[in-house]
Amino acid sequence: MFRDLVYDIRFRWYNECCLNRSILTFCVELCKGVVGIRSRLTQLVKKLVLWPEINSSHAKIRTLLVLGIPMFIFCALFSLIRWAVVWDGEIVAVASERQMAETAVQDYINQLEKIAGMPVQIPEDTIKYHPIWRLAAMEDKQELQRCLAAKLNYQYEACGIFIDGKKMVAVRDKSVGQVVLDKILSTYSQDGKGKVNFKQKVAMKTDIVDIDELMEADQAVEYIQYGGTDVKKYQVQEGDTLWDVATAAEISVEQLIEANPGLSPETIQIGQEIKISRPAPLVDVLSTHENIQQEEIAYPVQEKVDQELYWGEQKLVQEGSFGQREVVYEVTLENGQETGRKAMRQKIIKEPVPRIIAKGNKKLLAFRGGNGRLAYPTSGAIVSPFGARWGRTHQGVDIAANNGAPVVAAEAGTIEFAGNRGGYGLCVDVRHGSSVVTRYAHLSSAAVESGQRVERGQFIGRVGSTGNSTGPHLHFEVIVNGTQKNPTLFI
Ligand SMILES: [Zn+2]
Repeated sequence: MFRDLVYDIRFRWYNECCLNRSILTFCVELCKGVVGIRSRLTQLVKKLVLWPEINSSHAKIRTLLVLGIPMFIFCALFSLIRWAVVWDGEIVAVASERQMAETAVQDYINQLEKIAGMPVQIPEDTIKYHPIWRLAAMEDKQELQRCLAAKLNYQYEACGIFIDGKKMVAVRDKSVGQVVLDKILSTYSQDGKGKVNFKQKVAMKTDIVDIDELMEADQAVEYIQYGGTDVKKYQVQEGDTLWDVATAAEISVEQLIEANPGLSPETIQIGQEIKISRPAPLVDVLSTHENIQQEEIAYPVQEKVDQELYWGEQKLVQEGSFGQREVVYEVTLENGQETGRKAMRQKIIKEPVPRIIAKGNKKLLAFRGGNGRLAYPTSGAIVSPFGARWGRTHQGVDIAANNGAPVVAAEAGTIEFAGNRGGYGLCVDVRHGSSVVTRYAHLSSAAVESGQRVERGQFIGRVGSTGNSTGPHLHFEVIVNGTQKNPTLFI
């Protein structure tokens, strides 16, 4: 006990008075003095016991006084010993009994754990109990705990959520952590049908945290989903408004201004760089699910030869129509954005109907082969020759033929004109090289279009009586360097 007292004197002077070394020395000397007083007292008692007049009443009183007063002082001093709760070298509370101090601290910790629902973490050896010499002490446990609440520092044993080894958030315990992770995953699961998992390595570990670091489940979900920011920049183009830029970035104008302090709709300039901050999750969720789609099937185009049609002539036999199928895709997404899809299986609902075109290859016997001359453009006799006729020049020859008789190209070439041309009626011009053009007039139908390439003897239309004509016939011209020549010189 005496050693405790000495400790207390030193302790108090160290911690409360901050006295210097000389005072400490004085203190030690004082203690030595106290020890001296004790040995003197012992000698005095011995003398008194052996004193011859010990039986006298006067001597009895004296003995009583000599022994009693120091005893009384000693007891009084002893009763002033208190117990200090020392936190990290600082006295945070003083109790009359050590037991009471310990109970108060333990009760206080239990209370904290009960409120928080998780273990309180106090580093070892940071709480100590020391005897001190003091008049007043806290007798009330509640008062003691109020002092502890004001000064005690402590942390909680919580559950940290780590993404790729880096701590992102802390929650109360692993069950709350699991709720957070499940909620993030369920955001991207397609009604629970698909498979979802994290792209990064996600782990829950015991983590010692301050109370203000803790998050509730919903708060933690939001932090992880929107906590990170992916800063992108945009250069203002002519005619852009803040609203355009924000809409394109899928954020609000407010968020855009928040990311660019000082930005205002009146001051944006062409070429100015604007930060487009879009919330980026701290963890990415990969998901796959099946997607069923109805699709059209394109129809094939089939060609078949029809002996009844002339070479170059074609006829639609059957109109094509689209088929229909049901395709099951496996769709892969990252944070809800599709990154790929793969067709797994398909079911044909309706087969496509092919488009069938008949093409002719029939040639008029007379037009086969080539001997350096033009082919005869239709079958029939020349009924009106080239040259002077009724006082003016007939620019071609008229070949008698029935309405609808096939007309073929006199030589390979390119269609220069196909359409109505005044007195010529429905007319086709075919250019053969740079200087020669052949003309076929009064047609009832044309099977070619301007710009189309035709071969010698290819079907180009049918005989008719359109334009300035008295009856069905083919008016045929050969134009060399812009001047009509007698066709009979070439056919
Ligand atoms: Zn004519």
